[in-house]
Amino acid sequence: MNINLEDFWKNVLGEVELEISRPNFVTWLKGSRLVDKKDGVALVSLPSNFAREWVENKYNKLILRSLRALDQSLKRVEYTIDASQHNKILPQKTPVLITNQLAFQEFRVDPETNLNPRYTLSSFIVGSSNELAYAATTAVINEIGTKYNPLFIYGGVGLGKTHLLQAMGNEIKNLHKNKIRARYVTSDRYVNDVVWAIRNKRMDDIREKYRNVDILIIDDIQFVGGKERTEEEFFHTFNALYEMNKQIVISSDRAPRAIPTLEERLRSRFEGGMIADIGFPDYEMRVAILKTKLQEKNQELPDDIIDLVASRIQRNIRELEGVLNRILFHQQKKNEPASIKTAEGIIQENATQPVKQISFQQITQAVSSFFEIPEKDLLGRSRKKEIVFPRQIAMYIIREELSASYPEIGSRLGKRDHTTAIYAYEKISKEIQKNPALASKINLLKEKIHNS
Ligand code: ADP
Ligand code: MG
Repeated sequence: MNINLEDFWKNVLGEVELEISRPNFVTWLKGSRLVDKKDGVALVSLPSNFAREWVENKYNKLILRSLRALDQSLKRVEYTIDASQHNKILPQKTPVLITNQLAFQEFRVDPETNLNPRYTLSSFIVGSSNELAYAATTAVINEIGTKYNPLFIYGGVGLGKTHLLQAMGNEIKNLHKNKIRARYVTSDRYVNDVVWAIRNKRMDDIREKYRNVDILIIDDIQFVGGKERTEEEFFHTFNALYEMNKQIVISSDRAPRAIPTLEERLRSRFEGGMIADIGFPDYEMRVAILKTKLQEKNQELPDDIIDLVASRIQRNIRELEGVLNRILFHQQKKNEPASIKTAEGIIQENATQPVKQISFQQITQAVSSFFEIPEKDLLGRSRKKEIVFPRQIAMYIIREELSASYPEIGSRLGKRDHTTAIYAYEKISKEIQKNPALASKINLLKEKIHNS
């Protein structure tokens, strides 16, 4: 690029940057260049077709204004794609094989940090629904442990919490290599580690594992709520890290005060830091996500199909991706461009898809991990109080969720007859009525089972 153009563009971007949020600036304009400037026209290049469309639609006015502030002779902006960068993004000519499953396996999760390189900040689309969470994340990346500690990010299922947390870890790893030790863990896994350590008298091991880091990222903390020993251990880990100015990042499906079973002292710790929520993506953002995913896969779809999908799938980015993948899969199988009718059918299938089929075992596993008892005890004949109560809860949930028959429930849990199962179901049903803490525990459990 002509050096004068380069300097000139830097000044223009300086103006633009004052007017839009940092995340948007970084997402959309960082890779931009001024290629030419003559006859009143500025030619701006962007790294992808998609970025070009986005910038043209959203920032054209602002860019023109900023250009004109520095050069009155400019009347218009034209946009182009930077071929050199474009090729970097799309190296292969042949489309990558689309399957119903995202190609997670292509990436190797680092066993030390539990980070999956699939998740990057550059593939994270920023819009008004996640701008705050994104800005907080980048702030933490730049000032680990000192700026926002803890950082608590919450939002509904499939809205990008895991992506953002993982991308943060990856970014830090790339920036600092091994000088900053990051560790990502799902709260499930954390609970299992604590339970294992208690049982094997190896608490020192897990303290070493979770306190010997510079940044600890815990995903889906809501599942820790109500597990007393795990909460206790986490509370001390939290304090130990916090006192050493180590960064703690937490995600949850809801705000700290809305996690019913969370201990008060943990809640107030969480509320002492930065809390950012992620909301539902708006239409523009949904289109942006679909187009980015298409580009990543080196695939195309007509705009009316993209519009249809973006208009109809509004509340879950994972679903948005799922529907897109199914349309592409269909297209590939039939070897012809998908029609609006096909897309419509796939969207409808998605909407009417019954809640994922749950198995007996998923329920018993979830209950035993929730109550921190071995699954074989739950399934066995023990009459100890600390086993009987969780077993009754498992029976109740199985009846509710699977509509299993009482004889089946009885025989599979504790080899009992149907009267035991009926008794358990009725007892728990009654208790839920008068005990809100129990009701919320069971709700949490159900949620967990559905998400497993
Ligand atoms: P959550 O943890 O909140 O349930 P995930 O982080 O697992 O959600 O996101 C679900 C899927 O949607 C993932 O495949 C993720 O890559 C994708 N996704 C979510 N938010 C974004 C975004 N802002 N930009 C691009 N992809 C996203
Ligand atoms: Mg997640």
